Amino acid sequence: MQRVFDILDRDEAVSFLQSLVQTESINPPGDEHAVAEKIEERLAAAGVTAEMHEVQKGRTNLLASLPGEASIEGRVLVYSGHFDTVPLGNASWEHEPLGGESAKGRMYGRGTTDMKGGVAAMVLALEYLRRSGTRLGGELRFVGTVGEEVDGLGAHEVVKKGQMDDATALVVGEPSANGAFVAHKGTLWVEVSISGRTAHGSMPENGVNAIDKMRHFLNWLEGHSFSHEEHPLLGGPTINVGTIEGGVKANVVADGCSATLDLRTVPGQSHEEVLSEIERALAEVCSSTGASYEVRVVNDMAPVSTPEDDPFIGLCLDTAKRRLGQHLTPEGAKYYTDASVYVPQLGLPTLIYGPGEPGMAHQPDEWIDVEKYLEGIRFYVALAEEYLGVV
Ligand SMILES: [Zn+2]
Repeated sequence: MQRVFDILDRDEAVSFLQSLVQTESINPPGDEHAVAEKIEERLAAAGVTAEMHEVQKGRTNLLASLPGEASIEGRVLVYSGHFDTVPLGNASWEHEPLGGESAKGRMYGRGTTDMKGGVAAMVLALEYLRRSGTRLGGELRFVGTVGEEVDGLGAHEVVKKGQMDDATALVVGEPSANGAFVAHKGTLWVEVSISGRTAHGSMPENGVNAIDKMRHFLNWLEGHSFSHEEHPLLGGPTINVGTIEGGVKANVVADGCSATLDLRTVPGQSHEEVLSEIERALAEVCSSTGASYEVRVVNDMAPVSTPEDDPFIGLCLDTAKRRLGQHLTPEGAKYYTDASVYVPQLGLPTLIYGPGEPGMAHQPDEWIDVEKYLEGIRFYVALAEEYLGVV
């Protein structure tokens, strides 16, 4: 058996990542199929079987597996990543956005950091484990999804099909600059619309002003602290009123007003409860005035957290230290991940560890540090060996 780290080839790893970056998968619309296909071809050539699952036309999840040879307590370790990227944005790029150009130890391009770098590193970990002849005790599974950047389409499909029901631990390869993130906030985007009754601006008593009602609601929101406990790594929840729209002109009583809210929640908070508190406040604001309201949930991603003293997290930190000389301390992530879909359903110990730079996600001239990308591959290999055992 060859040692896995010995066959890791920098040029090969770089050109694989470059080929994924050059394969456009901007979401919307997504069109991630070609990315899944590139990965499937690569794994097939290395003797790793992968299944393609079409979620929508042109949008394909991929599941690949190294089966366990002597299941240690039935362990199944899932490595998870998404294939889509955000759009290029309006700012101009110095580097070709879909070129995957390398310069001074970095690779540039949309998705290098978020998160084709993490995806490529996970896929190559499976490939190198197979090519080296390593026989794992438990199963290592890669789950690649579509649609993470918009609505978690692919992850919802994975849960619906039960494709992770037997998983015992999860690693999400979102950018952590090779740090150990053990928690992230939840995201709840809500559109609130209030309808009133129009009248001439000189006789407001004849109408119901929807802007007034919205003002009362937003005042309540500002003074309200949704019940929560401060999280040691994430702090407390936040609220941002992102947009507000309403009214026609100065001398008309506004019969409509809507606002969008971005609530970031902490572990322990229930989104259902937050929504019912919002509904109660709106009901009170509108009660016996003739105004009515509507609440629409635009995005709902649950908060995720694994205790720092969880044995899996302990093993991850220990692996990084012993095998790679990395001293990691648990941190919290600012963004949400596909784990928002998986963890509430499956209750898995979860680590977020990826080679990208969190600050470069969604930015022009997005880049990844090539050394950190290679270190990511080594970490994924080492963690699979440590958690699943080598026969
Ligand atoms: Zn991402």
